[in-house]
Amino acid sequence: KKEKLIVLGGVAAGMSAASKAKRENPNLDVTVYERGGHVAYGQCGLPYYLAGYLKEAEDLIVRQPDQFREKGIKIYLHHEAIKLDPSSKIVEIQNRQNGNLIKASYDYLVIATGADPVCPAMQGTELNGVHLLKTIPDGKKIHENMMQEEVHQITLVGGGYINMEIAEAMLKRGKKVTVIQRPSQLLNTMDPEFGEMAAEILRKYGATIRLEETVKKVEGENKVQCVVTDWQRYPTDQLIFALGIRPNTSWLKESGIKMTEQGAIMVDEKSQTNVPDVFAAGDCATVFHRILNKQVYMPLGTTANKQGKIAGAVIGGKNDSFPGILGTSIVKVMDLAFGKTGITEKEAAAAGIPVKAVTVKGQSHAKSYPGSEKVTVKLVYHRDSRHLLGGQIVGPVEAGKRLDVLALAIFQKMTPETLGLVDFCYAPPFATVWDVIQIAANAAE
Ligand code: FAD
Repeated sequence: KKEKLIVLGGVAAGMSAASKAKRENPNLDVTVYERGGHVAYGQCGLPYYLAGYLKEAEDLIVRQPDQFREKGIKIYLHHEAIKLDPSSKIVEIQNRQNGNLIKASYDYLVIATGADPVCPAMQGTELNGVHLLKTIPDGKKIHENMMQEEVHQITLVGGGYINMEIAEAMLKRGKKVTVIQRPSQLLNTMDPEFGEMAAEILRKYGATIRLEETVKKVEGENKVQCVVTDWQRYPTDQLIFALGIRPNTSWLKESGIKMTEQGAIMVDEKSQTNVPDVFAAGDCATVFHRILNKQVYMPLGTTANKQGKIAGAVIGGKNDSFPGILGTSIVKVMDLAFGKTGITEKEAAAAGIPVKAVTVKGQSHAKSYPGSEKVTVKLVYHRDSRHLLGGQIVGPVEAGKRLDVLALAIFQKMTPETLGLVDFCYAPPFATVWDVIQIAANAAE
């Protein structure tokens, strides 16, 4: 009898797991159940659809269900897992279109149900023109609303990377943009000086940034008209909340699967949960952080793909393991890339790790070649071992990928001294003779 793999959730982690497992073991009977109407699409591109770079939100779909079916992977859309009984290895699934219940048995299960954006509990969030952004339908609703002629003023609540991308998209569309958030800096996962640079560039393009301000309620008749904070009232035509996400795991409460307080499923380096043959990956799961040396919840597409692939490989019979993350992430805010890998000075202090830090400003490439722009690099390294523990970078978009050099250096436990003399390339259009990364490394005391 064929062994049966059920995958719940069909985006980054789920489809990576299903595809990899089928590739490794073509005899596996693989079925994916997805709550929504799409699988295998790139949410990360939604802000760029809003900006107008893509004609249709559906252009973000990487593979259609039929392309998976051709490879022998069964896909059911609009099917939601509602209960798991690990002792009998049965998952209960509801067809959301006709309400029918299915009891599906599995040999292996991958939970890749991701996370939903948090909508704050307050008056007025049900009004038209109030949005969250996560799925293709979400993107289409925001798009449809913003294209109305009378929609000028957009208010974005939350100053993390998603709202930075939406702010850029809306400014490009000629909208007036106000960003409101409670924390004292934008891009709160970076050190404060970088949050200030993000605010500066958005202000330069006309956005209003309101920090340390809390939204209390939303007002309007039928459609949103005003956002009320603890300071002021802001007339608005459209409002988007991007305040973080919450794992879609409440349906697992009685399953015995171990989760964090926030509901993220605890997994090991093989994407296995505490329950035999049940795996989890992506935005519904924890991941090992190599610098903090513990399981964390840092949901990102790049991690979802990798964790899902590991789950699929292990189920398919391989002995693969995920080495863990550094929390590497990058966002474009107008003309600038903001990237971070490893830990910041702020995070080191919170974790009680003794560090030193160095910040330098250099150029993206030699001034002898046109278009050279300023790049800021900050390195964080252990005070005693001198191992590099973190890097942050701000510069023109093309300079952003230098962050991966830092990620590799941190991954390989390099010190500023070893990084400072690596054989990097140089010609005037690409770098300065000492690249800004090495200028930073060599400035470390
Ligand atoms: P999800 O994408 O959340 O998919 C889970 C799927 O499971 C959903 O389709 C859901 O409908 C389904 N589901 C939920 N519950 C059930 C159930 N009970 N039964 C069946 N199906 C269920 N990451 C980056 O690394 N870089 C970026 O630049 C970036 N940009 C982003 C921009 C935006 C606007 C957004 C919203 C996200 C961005 N991300 C980015 C994050 C990235 O998209 C996610 O980390 C990634 O999609 C997670 O994949 P996942 O498969 O774990 O979960």
